[in-house]
Amino acid sequence: RPTAWLDEPLPAVELSIEIFPPRTAEAGERLRHNLELFAAAGPRFISVTCGAGGTGEDGTFPLVLDVHKRFPVPVAAHLTCAYAPREHVDALLRRYWAAGIRRIVALRGDAPKGSERYVPQPGGYAYAADLVAGIREIAPFDISVACYPETHPEAASADADLDNLKRKVDAGADRLITQYCFDTDRILRFRDKLADAGIGLELVPGIMPIHSFTQIRRFSGACGAGIPAWLCELFDGVEDGSPVHGMIAASVASEQCRRLAAEGLTRQHVYALNRAELPLAIVHLLRAARHVPAAA
Ligand code: FAD
Repeated sequence: RPTAWLDEPLPAVELSIEIFPPRTAEAGERLRHNLELFAAAGPRFISVTCGAGGTGEDGTFPLVLDVHKRFPVPVAAHLTCAYAPREHVDALLRRYWAAGIRRIVALRGDAPKGSERYVPQPGGYAYAADLVAGIREIAPFDISVACYPETHPEAASADADLDNLKRKVDAGADRLITQYCFDTDRILRFRDKLADAGIGLELVPGIMPIHSFTQIRRFSGACGAGIPAWLCELFDGVEDGSPVHGMIAASVASEQCRRLAAEGLTRQHVYALNRAELPLAIVHLLRAARHVPAAA
């Protein structure tokens, strides 16, 4: 084991796990199985993503209810507002509340692929801050919102992005979940920047286990997450899906979790992408880290 693990017993880490509605019956079966494993790991909550349409018709609503009924684990429904009329979003929120769902991850959602930039739709919630304010008028949900240690790609500047975050907090958000960011120092600097700006809400770093480095490299630019040179070097010459790839990915993710926890960020959100191996490896590595006795 790395010596740092021997020297520094970790505080307890609480993980939440993010999944998405599967698109095929086969993927649905796999997720059913993996959900058993996730639930058994005792996550803080399981969250279910949704498309940018904000209607829940993409499978989010039934999956949220299914997890809620099957497992004694809190469930959070992601809710986007970018392309849905306000009445649709409000109606969905009321359905969630009536079904016993108490947690919402409130998001704007992305512009459709190919469109140049996001344009707020008439009659809808324009930005996530507006959505948070709308949710507060409907029911006392627990509301998480997104934040970006590396700045949202559409933001005019890092300061403008921070102003937007303040608007979400002022509108009534309870928690901030970060976009994934492989540069842990950057997350820590972001945490300090929030404190300087007087934003004292719980900050939950989003952890992206690298299931496929090829995919992550392709995907990251668009969502405002950089790929550091050291990460490219680690995966250089390593085949996607190979056992070595999985071992490196588990080491990278668990080391990031460990460092963040040692810095006091003990609540973390794992982008599981419906796959169990790496999230469960993280769970085990963090538990192992906690139980290692101090070096003699
Ligand atoms: P906002 O907070 O509204 O900000 C979006 C951009 O607009 C920022 O650049 C901000 O600075 C700018 N802005 C805000 N207000 C104004 C204003 N008044 N005038 C001009 N500019 C403004 N996407 C999905 O489709 N489904 C999901 O389930 C999903 N889950 C996510 C979960 C997490 C934890 C994270 C981090 C992201 C998730 N996303 C999801 C992606 C998210 O929808 C995109 O990152 C989206 O582009 C921005 O969403 P937001 O809620 O951060 O938007």
